[in-house]
Amino acid sequence: MAVTTTLAARTGTAFQVSQGGTLRVINTYGSQVVDTWAVARQEPQHGLSMAHTRAMLGRLTVKAGDELVDDRRRPILHIAEDTSPGVHDTLIPACDPVRYQQLGRKGHHDNCSDNCHRALAESGLPDLLTPVPAPLNLFMNVPVNSDGDSVLLRALTDVVVVLPACPQDLVPVNGDLQQPRDVEVRITDAPGKQAEEPS
Ligand SMILES: [Zn+2]
Repeated sequence: MAVTTTLAARTGTAFQVSQGGTLRVINTYGSQVVDTWAVARQEPQHGLSMAHTRAMLGRLTVKAGDELVDDRRRPILHIAEDTSPGVHDTLIPACDPVRYQQLGRKGHHDNCSDNCHRALAESGLPDLLTPVPAPLNLFMNVPVNSDGDSVLLRALTDVVVVLPACPQDLVPVNGDLQQPRDVEVRITDAPGKQAEEPS
């Protein structure tokens, strides 16, 4: 069974995905960066690690077919499909309050780090991501030339995937209009339960 939800601009949500299930992130408006964290549900002290993933892959970017690993080098997610035309960033840390202060913002600005902590707290998992590790920045550095690109992630263990739609509107990371947008997220159960298969 598949469940589709909208991840509202500037917010973050934690999604439960069981082993073998998939999570599709659909870039509805073609320009929104989605930070991506994944935490092993049974061992929430371990999560997706971009540093370990880069070392395992032997390169700086990820693509369809890649297995992404946690900080023990254990596979945690598989990129089953990617219809986007460009690369996804693995190097840039999540935006946080200091980033917006440095950009001149006085007072509060929504940010991916706080949204990650809030989403994890709402999921019921202990939040052991302090500071938050570098996320997989889906659709970051991807040219803005088409709507509806999507990335299909398959869970290789039971995971909680935390997705903030980045609220950055002070630099053009979310497109030239600097307008954070909604994205769509579709969760599908493991094969055998009417799973969505990569086409
Ligand atoms: Zn952000």
